[in-house]
Amino acid sequence: MAFDAAALIRSLENCPCGKKHAAKAPFVSFEKGLTGKTGAILREKLGGESLLLVWDENTKKASPGLLESLDSAGYRVKLLTYENLREATMEVSEKVMEEAGEADLILSAGTGSLNDVCRYAAFRLQKPFVIFATAPSMDGFLSGQAPLTVNGFKTTLDAKAPEVLLADVDILAASPAELKAAGLGDLIGKYTALADWKIASILTGEAYCPSIARLTREAVEKAVKPIRDGADPAHDEGYALALMEALTLSGLMIYLAGTSRPASGAEHHMSHLWEMLYAARGLAPLYHGTKVGVAAAVASDIYHEAVREAPCFIHHTPSPKALEEAFHPLTESIMRESLPDPASSVRDEEIAMAWGEITRIVNEEIPTGEEIRAILRKAGGAAAPEDAGIPGDMFEAGSKYAFYVRKRLTLMRLLRTRVEPFSETEE
Ligand SMILES: [Zn+2]
Ligand SMILES: [Zn+2]
Repeated sequence: MAFDAAALIRSLENCPCGKKHAAKAPFVSFEKGLTGKTGAILREKLGGESLLLVWDENTKKASPGLLESLDSAGYRVKLLTYENLREATMEVSEKVMEEAGEADLILSAGTGSLNDVCRYAAFRLQKPFVIFATAPSMDGFLSGQAPLTVNGFKTTLDAKAPEVLLADVDILAASPAELKAAGLGDLIGKYTALADWKIASILTGEAYCPSIARLTREAVEKAVKPIRDGADPAHDEGYALALMEALTLSGLMIYLAGTSRPASGAEHHMSHLWEMLYAARGLAPLYHGTKVGVAAAVASDIYHEAVREAPCFIHHTPSPKALEEAFHPLTESIMRESLPDPASSVRDEEIAMAWGEITRIVNEEIPTGEEIRAILRKAGGAAAPEDAGIPGDMFEAGSKYAFYVRKRLTLMRLLRTRVEPFSETEE
Protein backbone atom coordinates (compact mmCIF):
# COMPACT_ATOMS: atom_id res chain seq x y z
CA MET A 1 0.00 0.00 0.00
CA ALA A 2 1.28 3.41 -0.86
CA PHE A 3 2.15 5.83 1.87
CA ASP A 4 1.97 9.08 -0.05
CA ALA A 5 4.36 11.40 1.77
CA ALA A 6 4.23 13.94 -1.06
CA ALA A 7 0.43 14.17 -0.85
CA LEU A 8 0.57 14.57 2.92
CA ILE A 9 3.09 17.38 2.61
CA ARG A 10 0.99 19.03 -0.13
CA SER A 11 -2.12 18.82 2.05
CA LEU A 12 -0.36 21.07 4.56
CA GLU A 13 0.61 23.75 2.05
CA ASN A 14 -0.95 27.10 2.98
CA CYS A 15 -1.84 25.67 6.36
CA PRO A 16 -4.21 27.95 8.32
CA CYS A 17 -1.85 27.75 11.33
CA GLY A 18 0.40 30.17 9.41
CA LYS A 19 3.54 28.03 9.47
CA LYS A 20 5.14 26.90 6.25
CA HIS A 21 5.26 23.11 6.53
CA ALA A 22 7.87 22.42 3.87
CA ALA A 23 9.84 19.21 3.38
CA LYS A 24 11.36 17.23 0.58
CA ALA A 25 9.11 14.20 0.16
CA PRO A 26 10.81 10.86 0.69
CA PHE A 27 9.72 7.85 -1.34
CA VAL A 28 7.89 5.53 1.03
CA SER A 29 6.45 2.11 0.26
CA PHE A 30 5.06 -0.59 2.57
CA GLU A 31 3.90 -3.61 0.69
CA LYS A 32 3.45 -7.35 1.00
CA GLY A 33 6.27 -9.13 -0.78
CA LEU A 34 8.25 -5.92 -1.28
CA THR A 35 11.62 -7.51 -0.48
CA GLY A 36 12.02 -9.01 -3.95
CA LYS A 37 11.38 -5.61 -5.58
CA THR A 38 13.78 -3.64 -3.39
CA GLY A 39 16.70 -3.67 -5.85
CA ALA A 40 14.49 -2.51 -8.71
CA ILE A 41 12.94 0.27 -6.59
CA LEU A 42 16.37 1.60 -5.59
CA ARG A 43 17.60 1.44 -9.16
CA GLU A 44 14.62 3.50 -10.29
CA LYS A 45 14.60 6.02 -7.42
CA LEU A 46 18.30 6.49 -6.69
CA GLY A 47 20.39 4.74 -9.34
CA GLY A 48 24.04 4.15 -8.54
CA GLU A 49 26.23 1.06 -8.94
CA SER A 50 27.33 0.06 -5.48
CA LEU A 51 25.89 0.17 -2.00
CA LEU A 52 26.83 -0.52 1.59
CA LEU A 53 24.28 -2.69 3.37
CA VAL A 54 24.38 -2.36 7.17
CA TRP A 55 22.43 -4.86 9.30
CA ASP A 56 22.83 -7.27 12.19
CA GLU A 57 22.25 -11.01 12.50
CA ASN A 58 18.63 -10.45 13.63
CA THR A 59 17.61 -8.15 10.80
CA LYS A 60 19.56 -10.24 8.29
CA LYS A 61 17.55 -13.28 9.34
CA ALA A 62 14.34 -11.25 9.12
CA SER A 63 15.05 -10.17 5.52
CA PRO A 64 15.43 -13.30 3.35
CA GLY A 65 15.74 -12.39 -0.33
CA LEU A 66 16.96 -8.83 0.22
CA LEU A 67 20.51 -9.50 -0.90
CA GLU A 68 19.36 -11.46 -3.97
CA SER A 69 17.05 -8.60 -4.94
CA LEU A 70 19.92 -6.09 -4.78
CA ASP A 71 22.15 -8.47 -6.74
CA SER A 72 19.65 -9.01 -9.49
CA ALA A 73 19.18 -5.24 -9.87
CA GLY A 74 22.91 -5.11 -10.62
CA TYR A 75 24.18 -3.55 -7.40
CA ARG A 76 27.65 -4.36 -6.12
CA VAL A 77 26.90 -4.90 -2.43
CA LYS A 78 29.36 -4.49 0.39
CA LEU A 79 28.16 -5.87 3.74
CA LEU A 80 28.66 -4.58 7.26
CA THR A 81 27.07 -7.13 9.61
CA TYR A 82 26.84 -6.66 13.38
CA GLU A 83 26.04 -9.41 15.84
CA ASN A 84 23.23 -7.56 17.66
CA LEU A 85 23.45 -3.79 17.52
CA ARG A 86 21.56 -2.35 20.50
CA GLU A 87 23.41 0.92 21.03
CA ALA A 88 24.04 3.64 18.46
CA THR A 89 27.51 4.99 19.17
CA MET A 90 29.77 7.38 17.34
CA GLU A 91 32.35 4.58 16.91
CA VAL A 92 29.87 2.43 15.02
CA SER A 93 28.79 5.38 12.87
CA GLU A 94 32.44 6.14 12.06
CA LYS A 95 32.91 2.51 11.08
CA VAL A 96 29.95 2.87 8.69
CA MET A 97 31.57 5.98 7.18
CA GLU A 98 34.84 4.13 6.72
CA GLU A 99 33.16 1.12 5.10
CA ALA A 100 30.93 3.28 2.91
CA GLY A 101 34.04 4.48 1.02
CA GLU A 102 33.16 4.60 -2.66
CA ALA A 103 29.62 3.19 -2.26
CA ASP A 104 26.91 5.23 -4.00
CA LEU A 105 24.26 4.55 -1.36
CA ILE A 106 23.95 3.49 2.27
CA LEU A 107 21.18 0.98 3.04
CA SER A 108 20.21 0.27 6.64
CA ALA A 109 18.18 -2.91 7.15
CA GLY A 110 16.57 -2.79 10.59
CA THR A 111 15.23 -0.17 12.99
CA GLY A 112 16.42 2.09 15.80
CA SER A 113 20.17 2.02 16.38
CA LEU A 114 20.93 0.43 13.00
CA ASN A 115 19.12 3.32 11.33
CA ASP A 116 20.71 6.00 13.49
CA VAL A 117 24.34 5.06 12.90
CA CYS A 118 23.68 5.06 9.13
CA ARG A 119 21.59 8.22 9.26
CA TYR A 120 24.50 10.15 10.70
CA ALA A 121 27.09 8.53 8.41
CA ALA A 122 25.01 9.31 5.29
CA PHE A 123 24.63 12.90 6.46
CA ARG A 124 28.36 13.33 7.01
CA LEU A 125 29.27 11.70 3.69
CA GLN A 126 26.33 13.31 1.84
CA LYS A 127 25.33 9.99 0.33
CA PRO A 128 21.79 8.88 -0.48
CA PHE A 129 20.30 6.91 2.42
CA VAL A 130 17.75 4.10 2.42
CA ILE A 131 15.96 2.38 5.29
CA PHE A 132 14.59 -1.12 4.84
CA ALA A 133 12.55 -1.34 8.06
CA THR A 134 12.10 -4.74 9.68
CA ALA A 135 9.76 -3.87 12.58
CA PRO A 136 7.22 -1.13 13.43
CA SER A 137 8.89 -0.31 16.73
CA MET A 138 9.26 3.50 17.01
CA ASP A 139 8.40 6.71 15.20
CA GLY A 140 11.85 7.87 14.12
CA PHE A 141 12.10 6.42 10.60
CA LEU A 142 11.88 9.78 8.82
CA SER A 143 13.76 11.71 11.49
CA GLY A 144 16.46 14.19 10.49
CA GLN A 145 18.33 13.70 13.74
CA ALA A 146 20.33 10.87 15.25
CA PRO A 147 20.73 10.21 18.97
CA LEU A 148 24.28 8.84 19.22
CA THR A 149 26.37 8.03 22.26
CA VAL A 150 29.50 10.16 22.06
CA ASN A 151 32.13 9.54 24.76
CA GLY A 152 29.49 7.94 26.96
CA PHE A 153 26.91 10.74 26.59
CA LYS A 154 23.76 10.50 24.54
CA THR A 155 23.87 13.40 22.09
CA THR A 156 21.33 14.37 19.46
CA LEU A 157 23.12 15.18 16.22
CA ASP A 158 21.94 16.59 12.92
CA ALA A 159 21.65 13.71 10.50
CA LYS A 160 19.51 12.97 7.47
CA ALA A 161 16.09 11.53 6.79
CA PRO A 162 16.15 8.68 4.27
CA GLU A 163 15.41 9.44 0.63
CA VAL A 164 13.70 6.05 0.47
CA LEU A 165 11.87 4.19 3.27
CA LEU A 166 10.73 0.65 2.49
CA ALA A 167 9.12 -2.18 4.43
CA ASP A 168 7.77 -5.58 3.51
CA VAL A 169 4.45 -6.10 5.31
CA ASP A 170 5.19 -9.84 5.61
CA ILE A 171 8.36 -8.99 7.57
CA LEU A 172 6.60 -6.36 9.70
CA ALA A 173 3.83 -8.80 10.62
CA ALA A 174 6.37 -11.49 11.53
CA SER A 175 8.50 -9.14 13.65
CA PRO A 176 8.81 -9.87 17.40
CA ALA A 177 5.62 -9.11 19.34
CA GLU A 178 7.51 -6.99 21.86
CA LEU A 179 8.79 -4.68 19.10
CA LYS A 180 5.27 -4.18 17.77
CA ALA A 181 4.01 -3.56 21.31
CA ALA A 182 6.77 -0.96 21.72
CA GLY A 183 5.65 0.73 18.49
CA LEU A 184 2.10 0.88 19.78
CA GLY A 185 3.35 2.27 23.11
CA ASP A 186 5.17 5.09 21.30
CA LEU A 187 1.92 5.87 19.44
CA ILE A 188 -0.28 5.72 22.57
CA GLY A 189 1.95 8.45 23.99
CA LYS A 190 0.66 10.84 21.32
CA TYR A 191 -2.63 11.25 23.22
CA THR A 192 -0.96 12.95 26.17
CA ALA A 193 1.63 14.67 23.94
CA LEU A 194 -1.05 16.28 21.76
CA ALA A 195 -3.01 17.38 24.84
CA ASP A 196 0.12 18.93 26.39
CA TRP A 197 0.84 20.76 23.13
CA LYS A 198 -2.67 22.22 22.92
CA ILE A 199 -2.76 23.20 26.59
CA ALA A 200 0.64 24.91 26.32
CA SER A 201 -0.49 26.85 23.27
CA ILE A 202 -3.61 28.04 25.10
CA LEU A 203 -1.56 29.24 28.06
CA THR A 204 1.48 30.73 26.32
CA GLY A 205 0.52 31.27 22.69
CA GLU A 206 3.12 28.71 21.60
CA ALA A 207 2.72 27.80 17.92
CA TYR A 208 0.21 24.97 17.48
CA CYS A 209 -1.00 23.33 14.29
CA PRO A 210 -4.51 21.82 14.43
CA SER A 211 -3.98 20.03 11.09
CA ILE A 212 -0.83 18.26 12.25
CA ALA A 213 -2.48 17.37 15.55
CA ARG A 214 -5.49 15.94 13.70
CA LEU A 215 -3.42 13.89 11.23
CA THR A 216 -1.30 12.45 14.04
CA ARG A 217 -4.35 11.57 16.08
CA GLU A 218 -6.12 9.89 13.14
CA ALA A 219 -3.06 7.75 12.45
CA VAL A 220 -2.90 6.66 16.10
CA GLU A 221 -6.62 5.78 16.06
CA LYS A 222 -6.11 3.69 12.94
CA ALA A 223 -3.31 1.71 14.58
CA VAL A 224 -5.23 1.21 17.84
CA LYS A 225 -8.48 0.15 16.15
CA PRO A 226 -7.46 -3.40 15.12
CA ILE A 227 -6.39 -4.05 18.73
CA ARG A 228 -9.68 -2.71 20.11
CA ASP A 229 -11.45 -4.93 17.57
CA GLY A 230 -9.59 -8.01 18.78
CA ALA A 231 -6.95 -8.48 16.06
CA ASP A 232 -4.15 -10.93 16.91
CA PRO A 233 -1.16 -8.64 17.50
CA ALA A 234 1.31 -11.43 16.78
CA HIS A 235 0.17 -12.10 13.21
CA ASP A 236 -2.34 -9.58 11.92
CA GLU A 237 -0.97 -7.94 8.76
CA GLY A 238 -3.44 -5.06 8.77
CA TYR A 239 -2.37 -4.15 12.29
CA ALA A 240 1.36 -4.32 11.45
CA LEU A 241 0.80 -2.08 8.42
CA ALA A 242 -1.36 0.43 10.34
CA LEU A 243 1.33 0.61 13.03
CA MET A 244 4.07 1.24 10.49
CA GLU A 245 2.03 3.90 8.70
CA ALA A 246 1.11 5.68 11.92
CA LEU A 247 4.71 5.66 13.18
CA THR A 248 5.99 6.97 9.87
CA LEU A 249 3.34 9.67 9.73
CA SER A 250 4.08 10.73 13.29
CA GLY A 251 7.77 11.13 12.46
CA LEU A 252 6.94 13.13 9.34
CA MET A 253 4.68 15.42 11.38
CA ILE A 254 7.52 16.18 13.81
CA TYR A 255 9.54 17.27 10.81
CA LEU A 256 6.73 19.37 9.32
CA ALA A 257 5.84 20.97 12.66
CA GLY A 258 9.49 21.86 13.20
CA THR A 259 9.15 20.61 16.80
CA SER A 260 8.64 17.27 18.52
CA ARG A 261 5.52 18.69 20.21
CA PRO A 262 3.05 16.52 18.21
CA ALA A 263 4.86 13.38 19.38
CA SER A 264 6.35 14.10 22.77
CA GLY A 265 4.97 15.45 26.05
CA ALA A 266 4.93 14.50 29.74
CA GLU A 267 4.97 10.76 28.89
CA HIS A 268 8.19 11.12 26.86
CA HIS A 269 9.79 13.10 29.67
CA MET A 270 9.16 10.14 31.99
CA SER A 271 10.55 7.76 29.41
CA HIS A 272 13.67 9.92 28.93
CA LEU A 273 14.28 10.09 32.66
CA TRP A 274 13.94 6.31 33.03
CA GLU A 275 16.24 5.77 30.08
CA MET A 276 18.94 8.01 31.57
CA LEU A 277 18.62 6.46 35.02
CA TYR A 278 18.74 2.94 33.58
CA ALA A 279 21.97 3.79 31.75
CA ALA A 280 23.50 5.63 34.72
CA ARG A 281 22.67 2.77 37.10
CA GLY A 282 23.87 0.05 34.73
CA LEU A 283 20.50 -1.63 34.01
CA ALA A 284 19.75 -3.31 30.66
CA PRO A 285 17.76 -0.85 28.49
CA LEU A 286 14.03 -1.18 27.78
CA TYR A 287 12.55 -0.36 24.36
CA HIS A 288 11.68 3.32 23.97
CA GLY A 289 8.02 2.63 23.16
CA THR A 290 7.60 0.23 26.08
CA LYS A 291 8.49 3.02 28.50
CA VAL A 292 6.40 5.60 26.64
CA GLY A 293 3.28 3.38 26.74
CA VAL A 294 3.62 2.75 30.47
CA ALA A 295 4.27 6.45 31.11
CA ALA A 296 1.27 7.52 29.00
CA ALA A 297 -1.06 5.56 31.29
CA VAL A 298 0.56 7.11 34.37
CA ALA A 299 0.26 10.64 32.95
CA SER A 300 -3.34 9.98 31.91
CA ASP A 301 -4.27 8.89 35.47
CA ILE A 302 -2.76 12.06 36.91
CA TYR A 303 -4.40 14.34 34.32
CA HIS A 304 -7.87 12.80 34.67
CA GLU A 305 -7.70 13.01 38.44
CA ALA A 306 -6.55 16.65 38.30
CA VAL A 307 -9.45 17.90 36.19
CA ARG A 308 -12.10 16.40 38.45
CA GLU A 309 -11.99 19.57 40.52
CA ALA A 310 -11.02 23.21 40.10
CA PRO A 311 -7.32 23.74 40.81
CA CYS A 312 -6.22 24.78 44.25
CA PHE A 313 -2.99 26.73 43.78
CA ILE A 314 0.08 26.59 45.93
CA HIS A 315 3.59 27.44 44.91
CA HIS A 316 6.04 24.73 45.53
CA THR A 317 9.57 23.82 44.61
CA PRO A 318 10.66 20.27 45.41
CA SER A 319 13.47 20.16 47.95
CA PRO A 320 17.04 19.65 46.70
CA LYS A 321 17.12 16.46 48.79
CA ALA A 322 14.05 14.99 47.07
CA LEU A 323 15.51 15.86 43.67
CA GLU A 324 18.89 14.37 44.53
CA GLU A 325 17.20 11.14 45.59
CA ALA A 326 15.17 11.07 42.38
CA PHE A 327 17.95 11.93 39.92
CA HIS A 328 21.17 10.59 41.43
CA PRO A 329 23.77 10.58 39.83
CA LEU A 330 22.41 12.92 37.14
CA THR A 331 20.97 15.68 39.34
CA GLU A 332 23.18 18.49 38.14
CA SER A 333 22.80 17.88 34.42
CA ILE A 334 19.03 17.40 34.67
CA MET A 335 18.54 20.58 36.70
CA ARG A 336 20.62 22.55 34.22
CA GLU A 337 18.40 21.35 31.36
CA SER A 338 15.25 22.48 33.13
CA LEU A 339 15.92 26.17 33.68
CA PRO A 340 14.56 28.75 33.21
CA ASP A 341 11.11 27.45 34.12
CA PRO A 342 8.97 27.55 30.94
CA ALA A 343 5.88 28.05 33.14
CA SER A 344 7.19 31.17 34.86
CA SER A 345 5.29 33.54 32.56
CA VAL A 346 1.96 31.77 33.17
CA ARG A 347 -0.07 33.22 36.02
CA ASP A 348 -2.37 31.16 38.25
CA GLU A 349 -5.35 33.25 37.15
CA GLU A 350 -4.65 32.32 33.53
CA ILE A 351 -4.61 28.64 34.42
CA ALA A 352 -7.85 29.07 36.37
CA MET A 353 -9.45 30.82 33.41
CA ALA A 354 -8.36 28.09 30.99
CA TRP A 355 -9.32 25.27 33.37
CA GLY A 356 -12.66 24.57 31.66
CA GLU A 357 -10.91 24.13 28.33
CA ILE A 358 -8.10 22.07 29.90
CA THR A 359 -10.73 19.82 31.50
CA ARG A 360 -12.45 19.35 28.16
CA ILE A 361 -9.17 18.46 26.40
CA VAL A 362 -8.24 15.89 29.04
CA ASN A 363 -11.70 14.30 29.19
CA GLU A 364 -12.33 14.24 25.45
CA GLU A 365 -8.88 13.71 23.97
CA ILE A 366 -6.98 11.45 26.38
CA PRO A 367 -8.25 7.91 27.01
CA THR A 368 -8.24 7.06 30.73
CA GLY A 369 -5.21 5.28 32.17
CA GLU A 370 -7.40 2.19 32.50
CA GLU A 371 -8.25 2.26 28.78
CA ILE A 372 -4.61 2.79 27.82
CA ARG A 373 -3.48 -0.13 29.97
CA ALA A 374 -6.19 -2.35 28.47
CA ILE A 375 -5.04 -1.53 24.92
CA LEU A 376 -1.37 -2.13 25.77
CA ARG A 377 -2.22 -5.48 27.40
CA LYS A 378 -4.30 -6.59 24.42
CA ALA A 379 -1.33 -5.70 22.19
CA GLY A 380 0.85 -7.97 24.31
CA GLY A 381 2.91 -5.15 25.80
CA ALA A 382 3.81 -3.92 29.27
CA ALA A 383 1.02 -1.76 30.67
CA ALA A 384 2.14 -0.91 34.19
CA PRO A 385 5.63 -0.10 35.56
CA GLU A 386 5.85 -3.50 37.26
CA ASP A 387 5.12 -5.32 33.95
CA ALA A 388 8.12 -3.54 32.42
CA GLY A 389 10.24 -4.17 35.52
CA ILE A 390 10.71 -0.45 36.25
CA PRO A 391 11.96 -0.18 39.86
CA GLY A 392 9.54 1.50 42.29
CA ASP A 393 11.82 4.41 43.16
CA MET A 394 12.39 5.17 39.48
CA PHE A 395 8.69 5.01 38.78
CA GLU A 396 8.08 7.53 41.54
CA ALA A 397 10.89 9.81 40.35
CA GLY A 398 9.39 9.67 36.86
CA SER A 399 5.81 10.41 37.79
CA LYS A 400 6.76 13.28 40.13
CA TYR A 401 9.83 14.95 38.68
CA ALA A 402 10.33 13.89 35.06
CA PHE A 403 9.16 17.29 33.81
CA TYR A 404 12.60 18.57 34.80
CA VAL A 405 14.28 16.74 31.90
CA ARG A 406 13.04 19.22 29.28
CA LYS A 407 12.41 22.96 29.16
CA ARG A 408 8.89 22.44 27.99
CA LEU A 409 5.50 23.46 29.38
CA THR A 410 3.25 20.47 30.05
CA LEU A 411 0.16 20.12 32.19
CA MET A 412 2.29 17.81 34.34
CA ARG A 413 4.76 20.60 35.10
CA LEU A 414 1.94 22.91 36.19
CA LEU A 415 0.36 20.26 38.41
CA ARG A 416 3.65 19.26 40.01
CA THR A 417 4.79 22.78 40.81
CA ARG A 418 1.66 24.62 41.82
CA VAL A 419 -1.53 22.59 42.13
CA GLU A 420 -2.57 20.76 45.29
CA PRO A 421 -2.48 17.81 45.94
CA PHE A 422 -0.33 16.90 42.90
CA SER A 423 2.53 18.96 44.15
CA GLU A 424 3.73 17.97 47.60
CA THR A 425 2.90 20.62 50.13
CA GLU A 426 5.75 19.93 52.49
CA GLU A 427 9.00 18.10 52.74
ZN1 LIG B 1 8.80 8.36 20.99
ZN1 LIG C 1 -0.10 23.99 10.21
